Amino acid sequence: MTGTAGTAGTVTNWARTITYTAREFHRPRTLDALAALVAGSARVRVLGSGHSFNRIADPGPDGVLLSTAGLPQVTDVDTAARTVRVSGGVRYAELARTVHAHGLGLPNMASLPHISVAGSVATGTHGSGVDNGPLASAVREVELIVADGTTVTIGRDDPRFDGAVTSLGALGVVTALTLGLEPAYEVEQRVYKELPLRDLDFAAVAAAGYSVSLFTDWREPGFRQVWVKRRTDRPAVDFPWAAPAAGPLHPVPGMPAENCTGQLGVPGPWHERLPHFRAEFTPSSGEEIQSEYLLPRSAAVDALHAIDGMRHAVAGVLQICEVRTVAADQQWLSPAHGRDSVALHFTWIRDEAAVLPVVRRLEEALEPFDPRPHWGKVFAVPSAVLRGRYGRLADFRALVRSLDPGGTFGNAFVRDLLDG
Ligand SMILES: Cc1cc2nc3c(=O)[nH]c(=O)nc-3n(C[C@H](O)[C@H](O)[C@H](O)COP(=O)(O)OP(=O)(O)OC[C@H]3O[C@@H](n4cnc5c(N)ncnc54)[C@H](O)[C@@H]3O)c2cc1C
Repeated sequence: MTGTAGTAGTVTNWARTITYTAREFHRPRTLDALAALVAGSARVRVLGSGHSFNRIADPGPDGVLLSTAGLPQVTDVDTAARTVRVSGGVRYAELARTVHAHGLGLPNMASLPHISVAGSVATGTHGSGVDNGPLASAVREVELIVADGTTVTIGRDDPRFDGAVTSLGALGVVTALTLGLEPAYEVEQRVYKELPLRDLDFAAVAAAGYSVSLFTDWREPGFRQVWVKRRTDRPAVDFPWAAPAAGPLHPVPGMPAENCTGQLGVPGPWHERLPHFRAEFTPSSGEEIQSEYLLPRSAAVDALHAIDGMRHAVAGVLQICEVRTVAADQQWLSPAHGRDSVALHFTWIRDEAAVLPVVRRLEEALEPFDPRPHWGKVFAVPSAVLRGRYGRLADFRALVRSLDPGGTFGNAFVRDLLDG
């Protein structure tokens, strides 16, 4: 993300595929300044670390874009309660280092630690693991500055909680989150090569580690790599389906393995193994567009065969596809809401004109499996269809109306979803 306070004309997302259209861009340095800006603005959206690939953070040309990057960074660990209260703009890399220094750990991380905590949980960001819910599952309490500039705190016992974490930034500015922690643990990571799609026992492969990711370029059937992250405090599970790699690998063909976290079974702290990409390097390829769809996990093999049936079209614009699992959660707008999911992710080349027709074809192929797109990535599923895939959308709409009656935190993305 680039840009300083002033007009938003030059502020882009991380991938430089979106230039925000806001009329003003602010990076407040205090919560008081933030509250005053919110109370004095008719239309506001918040920018976290800018790693989303669509216009979810864009307030539109009549709005104000507020970055959380200049706010004081708070990371207060309560070792007795095993919780951390973290300000919304803190990135997982900093959060993880602090938490680990206290002998504690987060239950899971995404593929990269560069993303802000509030922005990640707002879009339902997830890692992998058959028993691991999205990152929002760790949240115990949310603190928000709402449209009139006052602070609202929503904890787990509050009936609004399940709408308040994966909220697409539509309720207010998340100034702090309290997350549940566990004792720090070690993870060893091994990469296996060439797993066939034919006769794939997806449930067994996905359960062969604490967090498992399958990667393919779809140029040939099957998977080029399988990344298995095992906790050393849990029994080891055999991986008889593919051969271990002889050296470290990057999942994207042609990218250097040194950008990636430690492999070859060398144990390391949880936060240096659960993400694929190291905090001090560019994650993924850097020149890309991403899409991702969460489907019921029971449909994983059928969905993979559906993609295999159009793999030449997909391969033509693809850098890499990653297949992960996400446990069901209860957040009303979570793509994993109420169903154990398989997540089908696509890192495309950075050429929107070439990619979008393939995205549409892919969505048609996945349609029978009721896919829910990742809120922070590129998709073409119409809002009218999406509304039918979220059974608690009416509750979310009512929550937005109660906390933000004037629609200050609405934008085209949110209004389209909620109001049609
Ligand atoms: C290289 C790369 C790898 C990725 N890997 C994964 C992955 O492994 N798993 C996965 O699920 N996703 C992944 N993503 C997607 C990414 O996690 C999401 O786009 C996430 O939302 C990024 O967080 P952010 O802070 O950059 O959000 P932004 O793009 O800045 O914002 C996203 C949304 O959150 C809102 N928001 C941000 N901060 C606040 C706040 N303080 N208060 C209120 N609303 C706020 C914004 O308004 C917007 O609606 C990846 C993205 C990239 C670029």
